[in-house]
Amino acid sequence: YSNNQTVIFHNGEFLKPETAKSNLYSQTLHYGNGVFEGIRSYKTPEGTKIFKAKEHYERLKYGAEVMGIPFHYTVEELTAITYDLLERNNLADAYIRPLITTGANMGLYTSKESVLTMQCWEWGKLMGDKLLRVMTSSFERPNPKSCFVEAKVTGHYTNSILSTNEAKDAGYDEALLLDMHGNVAECSGANIFMEKDGKLYTPKKGNIMAGITRSTILEICKEEGIPVEEKHFKLDELKQADSSFFTGTAAEVVGLKSLDDYEFPLKWADSLGFKLMQLYQQEVLGQRNNKLSQVL
Ligand code: PMP
Repeated sequence: YSNNQTVIFHNGEFLKPETAKSNLYSQTLHYGNGVFEGIRSYKTPEGTKIFKAKEHYERLKYGAEVMGIPFHYTVEELTAITYDLLERNNLADAYIRPLITTGANMGLYTSKESVLTMQCWEWGKLMGDKLLRVMTSSFERPNPKSCFVEAKVTGHYTNSILSTNEAKDAGYDEALLLDMHGNVAECSGANIFMEKDGKLYTPKKGNIMAGITRSTILEICKEEGIPVEEKHFKLDELKQADSSFFTGTAAEVVGLKSLDDYEFPLKWADSLGFKLMQLYQQEVLGQRNNKLSQVL
């Protein structure tokens, strides 16, 4: 993630990662009380562009608010710091990781101090490009009555790690998790869509981290006239689907080969997911010929 040229933003300064000091009494380290984001920038015809910076920083702010973590920057300031950091690292296509850690407090009431750290690095698609062999996890997604599932809180990711470890240890690529009612929820770090008879379905909001990529895919579908519906569905319905794919900032759009011992029958190249993978690439690279804007 870093080399001897890398610069990070930490506690108000741009510095080399090895010179940054962090607090060993931080609540983030001990209890997982911190918030973070996963953002990408792309090289576009108009220069380096952070994709949906506002949406990502608003989610970071929301996470800090629900956890009671002091938030010292505006969305605009965070966006400006990010562009500055990318330039200092000479990066255009990058993954950006802002993290707000909390101060020293061994009690369980949120510390009144917080520190922003921001790192960026070059990162290919998180789950690669080949079709994924996915396992249904024995772990459920966190219950929305136990935490704020739409907040990117560091501690929530132990659930993602447990399910990924289980899947990889069993020889699969990724994990699919259900919600507390047995509905299909999401992957450990991405949302899921399925295709059946030429229509797409994705789980409704409420028990999932409804991602920014998921929203982008829904917008693209609307603009391209691709039928899509948000609804709860169970595993047996997913195991009768023609095709399926995951969406996320780090994963982008990636197809599924199989779920447990069910192989998705539709050829990936003939699926709506494949088409959306291409449209998503065009969108983030600022190259999509938006049908609505062509009409206007
Ligand atoms: N679900 C989970 C659990 C995630 O961690 C992520 C990544 N933030 C997503 C879905 C996808 O969200 P986004 O498209 O905003 O990256």
